[in-house]
This record gives sequence, C-alpha cells and structure tokens, in this order.
Amino acid sequence: MAEALALRGESGRFMVDMEQQTWTISAEPSGYCWGQLEARQPWLLLYPPEVQQGDQPQPEPVAAYLTKAAAVDEAIVTRFCTVEGTPLTLSLFWRLQGSGLQVYVVPDRGYPMPAIELCCGGLLADEVLVPVRMGLLLHGDSEKPFEQVFGTYEYEGLHMAMCGLLAADTALLATWGDSCISTRVWRDLSLPAPGRMRTAFRLRDSARSLELRPIAAGGLRALAEAYLERAEALGYRQTWGQKIARQPRARKLIGACNFKLWTALARHIDENLQETGVDIHWTFNEAAQIAEHLKRDVQIDDVLFHLGGWTRYGYDCRHPDIMPPNEECGGEAALADCARRVQACGYLFCLHDNYQDIYRDAPSWDPHCLERKPDGSPVVGGVWLGGRAYYTCAQEALRLAKRPQNVEAVQAGIAPDLYFIDTTFAVGPQTCADPRHPLTRAQDIERKAELSDYARDTIGMFGSECGREWAIPHADFFEGLVAVSGKCYHGQALLPETCGGSVVPFFEMVYRDCIALHGKYDHNLLTTGEQVLHHALMGRPLYYHFHQSQHHLYWQNQDALAEAPAAPDSWDPAAYTRAHNGWADGMCLLDRYIKNTQEILGPLHKLTAETLVESYQFLDAARLIRRTTFGNGVQVSANASRVNVQVDSLHCGTVLLPPLGLLVEAPEFAAFHALSWNGRVYEQPVLFTLTSLDGRALGESASIRVFHGQGDACVVVRGRTVEVRREAVI
Ligand SMILES: [Zn+2]
Repeated sequence: MAEALALRGESGRFMVDMEQQTWTISAEPSGYCWGQLEARQPWLLLYPPEVQQGDQPQPEPVAAYLTKAAAVDEAIVTRFCTVEGTPLTLSLFWRLQGSGLQVYVVPDRGYPMPAIELCCGGLLADEVLVPVRMGLLLHGDSEKPFEQVFGTYEYEGLHMAMCGLLAADTALLATWGDSCISTRVWRDLSLPAPGRMRTAFRLRDSARSLELRPIAAGGLRALAEAYLERAEALGYRQTWGQKIARQPRARKLIGACNFKLWTALARHIDENLQETGVDIHWTFNEAAQIAEHLKRDVQIDDVLFHLGGWTRYGYDCRHPDIMPPNEECGGEAALADCARRVQACGYLFCLHDNYQDIYRDAPSWDPHCLERKPDGSPVVGGVWLGGRAYYTCAQEALRLAKRPQNVEAVQAGIAPDLYFIDTTFAVGPQTCADPRHPLTRAQDIERKAELSDYARDTIGMFGSECGREWAIPHADFFEGLVAVSGKCYHGQALLPETCGGSVVPFFEMVYRDCIALHGKYDHNLLTTGEQVLHHALMGRPLYYHFHQSQHHLYWQNQDALAEAPAAPDSWDPAAYTRAHNGWADGMCLLDRYIKNTQEILGPLHKLTAETLVESYQFLDAARLIRRTTFGNGVQVSANASRVNVQVDSLHCGTVLLPPLGLLVEAPEFAAFHALSWNGRVYEQPVLFTLTSLDGRALGESASIRVFHGQGDACVVVRGRTVEVRREAVI
C-alpha cells in the first residue's frame, strides 16, 4: 500500500498507483473510475520546442513515464523520465478542488514551458462530446476510423472551452481557461465496443492547467448542467432578457429566419489586382422589392434581412474602404431607402462588412495594419472576389472600424438594425508579432470582443460568422453555427456519416436562451430534407442564402416554378419544397420552401427560445429517429430513417412519420409532415401547422389557425374533420 497515494475531497477521490503507474479520479456516489487505467504506459508526450505551433499531429514526440509521486501540502507531485531514463525538467501538480481534479504543468526553475500532450494514451470513454458547432457526439460503437485534434475556439474546433467523456450513465467534464489547449480524440478499434473512444489534451505556449470533473450520473444533460455553472461564472450567459433590456429590437430576432442576398455587387479582381468582371445581382431597389414580396406575397413576418455587396466597390473589394455604398446598385440614398422599406415590412435590416481582411488596392491600404508572423512577414489571407487578402491585426482592425468613415458613417447614412462583421467569430484566435501592436491569442479575443461591442453600440445590434461562447455577451446573432452549405459541418471528416458520430444540441443545453443562431452559405434546396429535420431538432429557424438562379426579382423566373420530379421511393429530400394543393402551390421553388419551413420553425423558436434543451433521445439503434424535448415540454420528433415510423405524440396518440417526416408538439402549437395525425391516415405525406390564437391548448382553443403546406387538405381539429386548402381560422 506504500505504493499508492490519494487525495480525498468532499465527493471526489484521486489515487496514484506507483507500482502500476496508473491514476484514477472518481466521484461519489457512483464510484466510477476515470483516468489512466492501463498499467505502465506513458503519462505524457513532450514535443520538441521547434514544432510547438499549430494543432496538427506533430512528428516524433518523446514519451514520458512516471518515476516518482509525492504528497506535498494539498497536492500530489509527479515526476517523469523518458524510456531511456532521461529525467524531464517539469512536474505535474495534481489537486482536488471540490470534486474536480486539477492538473498543473510546472517547469523546473530556469526551464521553459514545453508543448506537451497530457493523458497521451487517451482517457477511455464510451462516447465523447466535442462542442463543435451544435455539438458532436462521437460514438464508441461505430466501426469507422476517427482521429482529430480540436483546437480551442478554432474554426470547427471547440466552440466552448471544454469537452465531455461519457460512459455508462456517468460523465467526465474537462474544462480550461486558455485557448492554447487542444484535445485529441480518436477511436481505438483494437478495443471492444463501446469503450474505445480515447481523449488526450495538448498544452502549448501559455497553457498550464486543466480541470477534470467526474459527474456521478446523468449523461449529456448532467454534463451540460455542470458546464452551465461555469458558463454563468465566466459571464458568457447573456440571456435574451438581458439582450432585450439592452436593445428592445432584439426581441424581433426570436423566431426570425435569416434571409441573405449574397452579394448585391460582385466585382471580380484577380490575384494581380486586375478587374476581370463586375455583376450587379440586386440593386438596392430590387433588394427592397424582395423584402416587400416576402411580406406581401409569401406572408412571412419574422426576417433578419441581410445584404452583402453594398459597399463602395462591392464585397469584398478594397476593404476597409466601404462608404459610400456603390453607385452601381443605386448609391447611398437608394440603400437608405432600401433600409426603410425593409424595416417597414417589420423586418430587421442587416449589413455585411469585414475588418479581418485588407486589400492592397484599397485607398487606405497601410502595411502598418497587417498581422505579422514571428519573422515579421505578413499573414496572407485567401483570394476572394476582391483579389488576394491580407490579414489585419485585430488591434488595427478595431482602429480601422472606428474611423469616422466606417461604422459611424454607416449608422449616420443608412441606420441598419444590425451590423455583421465577417469572420470575427469564425477564424481561430490569432497572434501578431509586430512590435508596434503585438498580440497574444487571449488579447486577440479581447480586441475582437471590443470590435463587436463598438459595432453593436454604434448600430444597435451585432452578429458575426459561426460563433464562439466568448462572443455571446458581445453579439445578438451567430450566422453559421447551425449548418454550413446545407450540412452540419464544413469539414467532410466531421459529417456524422463519416466520423461515426451524431449531431446533438449541446450548445442548446447551455446557451440556447442567449442568442439567435442560423446556418451559413447557400445550398441546393432540392436536397435539404435532412437539414429541415436538423433545424427542427435544434429548434432553430432556417437560413435562405441566395445563389445564382435567384438574382434580381427571383420569383419572376418561371423556370423555378415546377416541383421537383417525385422521388423514386419514399425518401424525398425535396419534401419541404413541395406545395401541391397547399398554401404556396404555384409559387416558385424558394418561396414554397421558405413558406413551408418558416411556418414550422418560426413558431417553434418563439415557443422555445427562452428555454434550454432538456433532453435529446435516439429512438432507434441506428440513431436516425430522434427527439428533442425543450425545458417547457415542447417536443420535436424527426425520422431520418428510410422507413415509415410510428412515434408516440404528447396529445394525439401515435403519429406515422414518413422518411424525413417530423412532428412538433406544444400545448398551443402543432406542426407535422406525416402520414397520420390525430387519427386521420393519409396516403401521401401532408404538411400542416395548427396555432391556437386564444392562448389555450389546441384541444380546448376556440380559435385555431390552420396552415396547410401540401397534400390532402383534410385535418382533424377538435375531433372534427375540416378541409383547409391554404389557411383558415377554425
Ligand atoms: Zn498586431
């Protein structure tokens, strides 16, 4: 027993076994042991200093084994050596704080902090929750190979500074405060399922510590509750109540879809700064006509109306010189008139801008503004419509945005409701080595938060791309967290079918009541069935981002009228674009899709925006039939399998869902794309929504609005079959 050392807290116990070279952390009452369970394996990997940068797998790190452990005051201190016996010049200090195990990396006096990987053999779990976008749950029972490094706040990295391990009904919550931490997650197919997910932690530069907190019972929801306490303490949870108190118009984001014209003026400039073409996709007058069409003809009430390419040279040419708005689309007076007309529809008007990128042909191009690498060379961005971009340093971006000719001039001349500064929340934390404005990753986040606050205070509300937890108190909406180009992730490697994982609403369990979220980038409407289910399960309105066939007054393009040919089987990815015999019959493809989906998702968001997701269930072994339950009991069931499925409903017995069918249920609202509902059986899928207009539950309401999207027009309301072709109040 002399070989074992232990720390005991109120509810946790940490043990080091010298003989086995293992460690465990457990929490009462489950007693489940997490930790380094495999005997005589290395505890950490040491990376050579010259390859410390970046999150990619590094060549040939050195493995380190436990040589000594000693109790010192309230801690256990461990020492290591390489397999050849060379001692490491660092210690790990292990401490218990409540039930949390804290690990500190302490270099010996006079030695630098190396880059290391802790728990390099991988802490074992059945499943790992990675907070990338809405949340990715990686399953141990999948046979697909998987290994990925996720950097804190990186693009498709960890959008919250945590990850969660799940086994049986217990969990382990890993948290940290430094963005120089990454997790490496992999599936070890040599082990029996499901306990073969492995997780390690990489620390570099300023990162020194992390905390591992066992959670006795409760799975994903308990993990979220434990993290929520931390999110609250860090000040990230700025709720709708606070946002609306700050800016009453923020209320209009609740239930609003994101409608983006991308881009009004597209000027094409090549890498050598030569203009190769210019296209006007929408004049400002046409943009206003589109908003009026959505309001008057499609009868959509809640829209975040978002315009790109309004800037002086067209997006994203010659940034940061944005004002006055370009003459090709109508000039400043026309854009101001467009803003008033969009707002007169009851919509929120948003303009798209960018301070991450600067172009060499911009009138105010200044090499002083550039973000610089450690050798002083500038950080080069992509080749966009404006040609080759260079990155600005975040401190300089803030200075550029604050010039009177930038955001202030937009407010004075156009007065939109919201401002969007592209990439601010999407690009991972940057560093800058320019001695005139050096920045660490943490300082980069601070400057970006300042930029967001400045634009938000000047215009009224603010949003940016993708979204990160640190940005929630500085923004009103995130564009891109929910989806990218009609998929749940940008990277192919993270798509559920590739990685052996499932998308889960983990963000919605911690931050749902704090911010509006949408997807980003245009996508093919004829293949969006699964995305509609995804948005319904997340309780989020959709994004409608225009592409080429929708330039100018898109509904006048008669080619877009016809329904897609019927699917060869019951799997119909175009299901939500169909309006035969329904409200939007005869309208164009985009309008049919907008009407059908916003009639479901807008009210769903309004009913649930100020709650958290309470539970997320997989109703079948393949995890294709899923159910979300919100904190107020509202429930969404969705069938992404290839067969018809009976699901139990809250208020009307069993409901038969076709492939890509869904059911939304609240006391005062119901929506379904189904083959049966409330006792009536349909030969083909139908789409209906029912809304109580007097606040009473649907079963008792004296006034119910029925919306009919497609198919057979008969529906059973309060025990009586009624026929509703488009919409009616019953
Ligand atoms: Zn700088």
